[in-house]
Amino acid sequence: MIPMSLAQVAAVTGGKLSETADPEAVVTGDVEFDSRKAGPGGLFLAIPGAKVDGHEFAAKAHEQGAVATIATRPIDTPAVYVEDAVAALTALAKDAAARSRATVVGVTGSNGKTSTKDLIAQLLENIGPTVATEGNFNNELGHPYTVCKVKPDTDFLVLELAARGIGHITQLCEIAPPRIGVVLNVGISHLDGFGDIETTALAKSELPRFLGEDDLVVLNADDPRVARMAEVTRAKVRTFGIDNEADFRAVDLDHGDGRYAFRIDDGSHWDLPVRLGLWGRHQVLNALAAGVVARAEGETRFDLIQGLSKATRKSQRRMDVFTRPDGTVVIDDSYNANPASMGSAVRTLGQLPTEGRRIAVLGLMADLEEQSEACHRRLGEQAREAGVDEVIAVGDGTQPIVEGAAGDDREHSIDGADGVTATHVPDQAAAIALLDNRLRPGDAVLVKGSRYRTWDVADHLRAKEE
Ligand code: ATP
Ligand code: MG
Repeated sequence: MIPMSLAQVAAVTGGKLSETADPEAVVTGDVEFDSRKAGPGGLFLAIPGAKVDGHEFAAKAHEQGAVATIATRPIDTPAVYVEDAVAALTALAKDAAARSRATVVGVTGSNGKTSTKDLIAQLLENIGPTVATEGNFNNELGHPYTVCKVKPDTDFLVLELAARGIGHITQLCEIAPPRIGVVLNVGISHLDGFGDIETTALAKSELPRFLGEDDLVVLNADDPRVARMAEVTRAKVRTFGIDNEADFRAVDLDHGDGRYAFRIDDGSHWDLPVRLGLWGRHQVLNALAAGVVARAEGETRFDLIQGLSKATRKSQRRMDVFTRPDGTVVIDDSYNANPASMGSAVRTLGQLPTEGRRIAVLGLMADLEEQSEACHRRLGEQAREAGVDEVIAVGDGTQPIVEGAAGDDREHSIDGADGVTATHVPDQAAAIALLDNRLRPGDAVLVKGSRYRTWDVADHLRAKEE
């Protein structure tokens, strides 16, 4: 938080101070809605949640040293009374962004926002103090919450911008106007909820449309819907890609053990070799996007290739690769799933060097509606094409994976085309039982599905990690 008095907090939020609140008292800490985090000098935001009402914790926050609570109903401790807690937080965020010197970087796309945001933050931290969205906290609450974390000395604010409808990205941009916008890709994604891909593209294009002529937009040259966004922006355009000409292009890709090595061709005569510590081809694109941002902000080429090679995965259950004591390699990518990320994950499994077999435990890709059957069938085909030996499809709606993988219409446990064994199981417990029976030392297992649908399987495998 950039320090402000309670009187200013009231002015910015359109709130009213309680009699117990000192208008001169200065807020120096962060705004927190979890009372456990509300610390000395901070503001506590009382949210009337479905399960617990934040107001009940105002006294605790006060004891811990919070200067005041932003509240929507009367409390006994110092308060700023507002009509709507999230609207108040949003107003504070807007004010903080306006007072901050930080360069705001906004990242959007159907897949890879969190991964890329983490990469950008890791690179920019080498240049100056950086605040970034924590994990995936990109919703109506998480966005302003993150923006309010800027300090007077923050140089970079890296924000994950999730579009849940037309107009949504514009609203987020209005809170903390980006100077740099990154658009990764446009795909079918569960959360987008737009129905068709052109509407999804339109929603993502709000970021390049928002940017002004002094700003920079970073676009994926390999995604035609994203590349076309160069036409709708006033900002300077820089591109990244693997398959197409781009300002930052990865060449000489070598997937080694699943972690890619490549060189960046940035049009200079420099040789820029990168060896990612992250898994999957998609991370090459994310790394290129992050690289364009870091270079634009003055990172040297040397620091860039060092930074990308050292970058680690910050968020859980995303391409989390570990080896169990028996030599089984597990790719836990169970955080979430949609057709693009599933396709990318099975390809990564297919490329993994292993003495044993490659097994994919695949859960439902949720919210695909009428496209669900075709998308799941296609996933099964992709698994077969990628060289996966065994597919275990978990839960309702995933039978088409088996049909696609087996290459014919039979539905259950069959040794199908190309030697792929494909099995449908009703739930995670059954998948675990089957895996325990089938896994041999040296096998490689991918676990992936939409939110929680394969988490038990991943946790079961993890429990046997060294
Ligand atoms: P969400 O919409 O859930 O916030 P996100 O856009 O933040 O997702 P990540 O959490 O970074 O995306 O990654 C989600 C999944 O997408 C991961 O499982 C990963 O395998 C895959 N993924 C990451 N980057 C890309 C990319 N550039 N292209 C395709 N798939 C990707
Ligand atoms: Mg995310």
